[in-house]
Amino acid sequence: MPKKVGIVGGGITGLATALELVKKGYAVSVFEGEKIGGLASSFKTKKGEFLEETYHHMFKTDLELISLLEELGLKYEFRKATMGFYWNNKVFDFGTESSLLFFPGLNFIDKIRFGLCILYLRFENDWRKLEEIKAADWLRKVCGENVFNTIWLPLLRTKFGSKAEKVSMSWIWGRINLRAKSRGINKELLGYIDGSMQKLFEKLVSVLKEKGVEITKSKIMSIKRRNGKFFLDAFGGFDSIVFTVPFPIFLNITKSFRLDSYAKKILGVDYLGVQCMTFESEKPLSSIYWLNLGTNELPFGGIIEHTNFIPKERYGTHLFYLFNYCSWDDKIFNDSEQTVEKKYLDGLKKVFPEADLSSIKKINFFRNRFATPIYAVNHSKKIPPMETPVKGVFVSNTAYIYPFDRSLNYSIELAKKTAEKVGSFLEHC
Ligand SMILES: Cc1cc2nc3c(=O)[nH]c(=O)nc-3n(C[C@H](O)[C@H](O)[C@H](O)COP(=O)(O)OP(=O)(O)OC[C@H]3O[C@@H](n4cnc5c(N)ncnc54)[C@H](O)[C@@H]3O)c2cc1C
Repeated sequence: MPKKVGIVGGGITGLATALELVKKGYAVSVFEGEKIGGLASSFKTKKGEFLEETYHHMFKTDLELISLLEELGLKYEFRKATMGFYWNNKVFDFGTESSLLFFPGLNFIDKIRFGLCILYLRFENDWRKLEEIKAADWLRKVCGENVFNTIWLPLLRTKFGSKAEKVSMSWIWGRINLRAKSRGINKELLGYIDGSMQKLFEKLVSVLKEKGVEITKSKIMSIKRRNGKFFLDAFGGFDSIVFTVPFPIFLNITKSFRLDSYAKKILGVDYLGVQCMTFESEKPLSSIYWLNLGTNELPFGGIIEHTNFIPKERYGTHLFYLFNYCSWDDKIFNDSEQTVEKKYLDGLKKVFPEADLSSIKKINFFRNRFATPIYAVNHSKKIPPMETPVKGVFVSNTAYIYPFDRSLNYSIELAKKTAEKVGSFLEHC
């Protein structure tokens, strides 16, 4: 009889871990409480085409993701993506090295300092020496106050909202280092799965089921151990369990176990939530795919015009996202959907005062309380090992993806690592 593994969470980490474990010959069950795909799940647009609930693309360096897509026989393409920067009430092209030369927000010396900083981050290989330093402190010192306030602080706020100043410099290193390697010369190439991430999850589920993996819709509330076997609520008889949910959910489910110092360590990792609204419109807003905002006076952190990346003909309409990362106790995170919509549309009018926004319609709203861990200074020392003090119980979630920005690619890499650890435990138990 093969040994049994229970996986809590049917996002990419859970499903990719299931794939690795079933390939090793284990009997695997996955439990998903809401929607397969988790943070990368999709919804159906009017024309029947699926679209991610939060913008998703991939990079040329996403080799694990690309290899999984090829294994599953899924199509994807890389396309040129335009980037912009909203600063001083104007939208500037910001997608190429040369666009920096014409950006009026930085003077000549600022541009040199910014350019040298990017070069350093591109060629520095040791991120550990940057992890004890706050990004805000390092960038202010190296690039100067104007570059920090104009470029870096808005970038940090886009991803970490009011917690921006807590983030470690190693996270910025990860983002710039990888991004620089992924870019073509003077252009940004981003990848997209034909049919959206939905295709990836549909295919993964079907392959897993063919291989005998059981996938159950159930929100797991508790874990118990009896006679050497684990039970997730009423589902039982597991030799090992993998939690792919965020730390706070893991702690809640495992509260009957005495995790003591392990739990204390986990409590040191803070999270941010995200809300992301998708709109359709008869007319485009601009020609830019990704618009970063050089101001914190707007209720959202960025504007992503999806149909400037993937042609609008697929959807029969222009589509764009407005989003913001925020703490679950921030006011806007607790606002009603209608209030958020109104705030977002008012903000949009400030960015595009000339645009005719009359045909804009909200088509989806996504909110998640644990969208990202805050990768604060010394993050690698703050996270506990994936092996919990309860032998056979593992945690594997986005907090372990570091210093590179969390993504499907790194979740797949993490899943492989997790399956190795589980396999090695099961061989010896
Ligand atoms: C706004 C945004 C944009 C992003 N853009 C990109 C991008 O462009 N490219 C990219 O590669 N990545 C992107 N990411 C990151 C990517 O989506 C995540 O890193 C990845 O989806 C995380 O997968 P996961 O399986 O680790 O976690 P999750 O997707 O969070 O999966 C965890 C699953 O556990 C389930 N769960 C929770 N509690 C329980 C319970 N009690 N019982 C059972 N199930 C439970 C949840 O419902 C969820 O499905 C983005 C993320 C966000 C938030």
